[in-house]
Amino acid sequence: SEARLRQSQKMDAIGQLTGGIAHDFNNLLQGITGPIELMRRRMALGRTEGMERYMDAAAQSARRAASLIQRLLAFSRRQTLDPKPMNVNERIASMGELLRRTLGEQVRLSITPGAATGAAFGDAAQLESAILNLAINARDAMPEGGELRIGTSAVLFDQAQAQQLDLSPGRYCAISVADSGTGMTPEVLAKAFDPFFTTKPIGQGTGLGLSMVYGFAQQSRGLVQIQSQPGAGTTVTLYLPRAHADESASPAGPIGAPPLPQ
Ligand code: ADP
Repeated sequence: SEARLRQSQKMDAIGQLTGGIAHDFNNLLQGITGPIELMRRRMALGRTEGMERYMDAAAQSARRAASLIQRLLAFSRRQTLDPKPMNVNERIASMGELLRRTLGEQVRLSITPGAATGAAFGDAAQLESAILNLAINARDAMPEGGELRIGTSAVLFDQAQAQQLDLSPGRYCAISVADSGTGMTPEVLAKAFDPFFTTKPIGQGTGLGLSMVYGFAQQSRGLVQIQSQPGAGTTVTLYLPRAHADESASPAGPIGAPPLPQ
């Protein structure tokens, strides 16, 4: 029945949310225990200089963990996460330090904010955890190091394109996260968004990272796409609806299309 279908969809969403939160919380704990372990090693060597960096890093992860728990509390109080306009370029720029630490010294990070990206519609905390999850996946795909390029651009989907993608036509903010890692075989790519699908050793992968990103895109009425080829790297592109329909989109977006006739 209709009610039963809705109930099962709700249970699905709850499972995805709690799994996603557990996954994120784990990542954040690593962001606290990691710097503490580094400080311990330095102190054992009698090197006490530059400790503030590690303390700041641990404190920032702790704050993010607290905000994650805020979201969990909000959920338990049945306050649904309402997507709000957010400045995507600013959000991503604010993550530079966290991303660099997550990726380590072997991976070169570049962040290229696009012009006219403006405000997108979504939950800012979820955007941050989506980007962090994508960066962790990229790092894991580049054990020998490599490059991670994060870029944003404004795109426009016309009627035909939107219909094909199962989206509303209009302007979107595209956020692409491109790595030079191992890439995925077609078999892995086909299952990549499935909850609990992982090719990583037990204890290293939960298989929830990409399903969380997928859930976030859905909740924001956007889209997430993966382009990947073994040996050629992976590009994940997240499309979030633009918050202001009257701002102009760059004609040089990845999917160039003329503006819609109003
Ligand atoms: P997890 O990272 O815990 O395994 P995800 O849902 O994030 O879970 O990813 C599922 C699988 O998709 C990974 O185990 C990996 O095989 C593949 N994958 C995800 N991102 C990448 C990437 N950037 N490069 C190569 N493979 C990837």
